[in-house]
Amino acid sequence: MSEDPARIADLIERLGRLADALQRSGGLVPAQWEALRYLGRANRYSRHPGALAAFLGATKGTVSQTVIALERKGLVVRADDPRDRRAVHIDLTDAGRGALSQDPLGGLAEVAAGLAAAAAARLAADLAALLAGLQRRRGRPGFGVCGTCRFFRRNGAEGEAGGPHRCGLTQEPLGDTDAGHICIEHTPLVA
Ligand code: SF4
Repeated sequence: MSEDPARIADLIERLGRLADALQRSGGLVPAQWEALRYLGRANRYSRHPGALAAFLGATKGTVSQTVIALERKGLVVRADDPRDRRAVHIDLTDAGRGALSQDPLGGLAEVAAGLAAAAAARLAADLAALLAGLQRRRGRPGFGVCGTCRFFRRNGAEGEAGGPHRCGLTQEPLGDTDAGHICIEHTPLVA
């Protein structure tokens, strides 16, 4: 590598600080924005406090406080998980989806949109590789979408309610929307 790795770490840290500052807006703090963003991207197996804690790298106690605060603001709602009576499911409300449409990280995305297409694609791939490397080092689940999961059965249950795909882990049908959302059970095709 020709670039100094310490400089890369420094740049990422500075970007993180700027992103943190951007997210102190709309009456929310960064952890609350991160939770809203996660819930907007997570599939039905992953919208629960444990998965949210794993994604954020936070304790379950911290996540519980975040969810309580968002619930008080009317941005999320908690309900019993229909697949597991001991578990709680968290969903965005319409107000939560509305708040996400004003995501303060949009400013960062606008700057990124100014990059040339090839540079943007390379940067996204490199940042994803850095993130995956750090997650592996810390023993954290990587999350990911169905298309890169070894359990994904594309068009495996055509015509079935909730299909047309299937999760080979849960043996349940998957719609296109869930298949395109991130999942805590994601297992890479090449582990
Ligand atoms: S196929 Fe993989 S990523 Fe998709 S729902 Fe199943 S376990 Fe999750």
